[in-house]
Amino acid sequence: MPLLGIDLGTTFSAMAYLDANGSPATILNAEGELTTPSVVLFDEDGEVIVGREARRAALAEPGRVAECAKRHMGDPYYPRLINGKRLSPISLSALILKKMRQDAERRLETSIDGAVITVPAYFDEGRRQATAEAGRLAGLKVIDIINEPTAAALAYAYRGILKENDAKPAQAGNKPAETPARTTLVYDLGGGTFDVTMLQIAGRDLRVLATAGDVRLGGRDWDERLFNHMADQFVHAHQDDPRDDPVSSQNLLLAAEETKKVLSQRKQTTFVVNHAGKTFSGEITRQQFDALTESLLYRSESRLNRVIKQAELTWDRIDDVLVVGGSTRMPQVIEMLRRVTGKEPNCTLSPDEAVAHGAAIHAAICAAAASARAAGAPKLQEPGVAASAPGAQSPEEKELDLVLTRPGLLASFKRGLLTLLRTIRTTNVNAYNLGVVVTTADKQQRVTILIPSNTQLPVSVKKRFGTAADNQAAVTVRIVEGESRVPDECIAVGACSIEPLPRGLPRNSPVDVTFTYDNSGRLHVEAIEATYGNWASVAIQRQAGATRGAPVNEDAEVVATPVS
Ligand code: AMP
Repeated sequence: MPLLGIDLGTTFSAMAYLDANGSPATILNAEGELTTPSVVLFDEDGEVIVGREARRAALAEPGRVAECAKRHMGDPYYPRLINGKRLSPISLSALILKKMRQDAERRLETSIDGAVITVPAYFDEGRRQATAEAGRLAGLKVIDIINEPTAAALAYAYRGILKENDAKPAQAGNKPAETPARTTLVYDLGGGTFDVTMLQIAGRDLRVLATAGDVRLGGRDWDERLFNHMADQFVHAHQDDPRDDPVSSQNLLLAAEETKKVLSQRKQTTFVVNHAGKTFSGEITRQQFDALTESLLYRSESRLNRVIKQAELTWDRIDDVLVVGGSTRMPQVIEMLRRVTGKEPNCTLSPDEAVAHGAAIHAAICAAAASARAAGAPKLQEPGVAASAPGAQSPEEKELDLVLTRPGLLASFKRGLLTLLRTIRTTNVNAYNLGVVVTTADKQQRVTILIPSNTQLPVSVKKRFGTAADNQAAVTVRIVEGESRVPDECIAVGACSIEPLPRGLPRNSPVDVTFTYDNSGRLHVEAIEATYGNWASVAIQRQAGATRGAPVNEDAEVVATPVS
């Protein structure tokens, strides 16, 4: 009953598990492929088809097909109607994950109930929650949601860890050998998202230093530039626009992607555009393609520079540059990395599989930690959700522990593997500022940051606020995430209320708000009215599918300026 690691990609998804020897292995889908197109078709009979066939059908029936749902994760709806229906990115992603689960069950001839799903490091809380919700709808127990670059780095570091362990097996109580830390940059450019993460890898210890990215930058944007170029050429020749017809557009988009891939291998190629019975055949060089897409590459370069600044490093202090994601096959990316970093990029990881492998390793690490907890063993590390919650475990965390400690789950692992897994440690940072909405003295709504972006996790921060009025009935703490100090430009993560407050409290009575962010990027918020020390019950409603600038109930806003 293995645990899955799933890389839920914008254009392709992949899954893996840890075999008995502890090596990550990709699980082929029902069609025998390493990756599954993240495409969903709703056919005439109401049947749902995911993957290769759906991608093929997109050519003939684009109105029945949903692609790139991940790009819209966090939004309530997919941007266009599919088969005449309004669908959510969560439900579309759930259909992809369900196929992955079912294919894995068929391949491994066993039921799967637990999985670690990866997300871009730059996904905000709303998008993370939406991804977890999609996993649950797909019938999976979501063990954890981890960042794609961290997963890739884990897959990379794990190779060395296994090799070292084969030479000198880990034993309970033995400390791993001290290994000098290597500062590693992970550059991850996939089909729809881009992440860049800086880590320090010292043997079994992976520490994220900083992360930056763009959740709307990926191979798809390179395709679209080429698509428009090819369409313009057609218009020039025939005064008719293939973009006006959904079927021609879909064909052209696929042709553009194919042309892009050929240009990764060759310096020049030909392309053909068909529309309304007319044909245009053209040529394009790699140099032209690079010029067409220059601004996209520049966007990724500027994020690279941002991450090095945030990590307070210079390029000469970077030891390794790891590349992952299908779009790093474009020579322009590797050339830019060479130029900017002054290093030869390390392309030894499989761009399509590394993230799923890292997720599978993380799932096994979580299970190893849970089994140690169940056995009452001393805590060697706290990698996953169940391990890292502050205080007592919640019912959900207890339920996850039951999945992770199910008899037989780890029985097939070779001797010593559990001990090894328990010694691997990953430490993350949060990608965005986290704060609360406060009402200032001049009645403005502003965000006060409790945890700034790129803070090492886990972290716990307490800040004192004051009530806004005499004899206030309740306090509502609105939790937001984002770069701005303006609440409507941030993501509403959730809210918690102390209700009712003790009667007769004067204005500016202290309210202590504590943010505890665990290593998996999960936030726990506590609000305590400090005058009487008795705190009302507090519940956090974290929203799946939260949207930027979501309407808020202004009347509920009762927290005033922070007390200095
Ligand atoms: P991923 O999400 O990591 O699977 O990456 C998928 C993206 O990689 C898609 O946009 C593909 O078009 C792109 N890709 C795959 N192979 C190549 C290639 N040989 N050259 C350029 N882009 C590629």
